[in-house]
Amino acid sequence: MQNILDRLACSSFRSRFVLKEQERRYVQEKGREKICSHARDFVLKRLSPAFIPNDGKQTPMRGHPVFIAQHATATCCRKCLQKWHGIERGRVLSLKEQEFVIKLIMSWIDGQMKKILDEKIYKNIDNLP
Ligand SMILES: [Zn+2]
Repeated sequence: MQNILDRLACSSFRSRFVLKEQERRYVQEKGREKICSHARDFVLKRLSPAFIPNDGKQTPMRGHPVFIAQHATATCCRKCLQKWHGIERGRVLSLKEQEFVIKLIMSWIDGQMKKILDEKIYKNIDNLP
């Protein structure tokens, strides 16, 4: 998992995506469990079917932290899933593959939330007299 996240961090396109304050607040307000169930829902409805009419365009660039996470982790569409994760198109995602995608999305979100926490701690230390 960390390997994949490291590989994604090297892509200038993928690493452009970050959780902004509004999205981080949303994650905090909803709680991790709720966000995870949203991720599950999106993956099931927008990514799992064998045939997706608007594949490549089904994941908005903004609006929900999970959408941002999907672009950052190349789990936004079946084309990206194939290119980055070797999961072929044209068939239903297995339960195992769905779990993998959800885990990847949540790991990325965890990383974003942790990064902000680290920065805050760092800033506080910086402000010490
Ligand atoms: Zn994509």
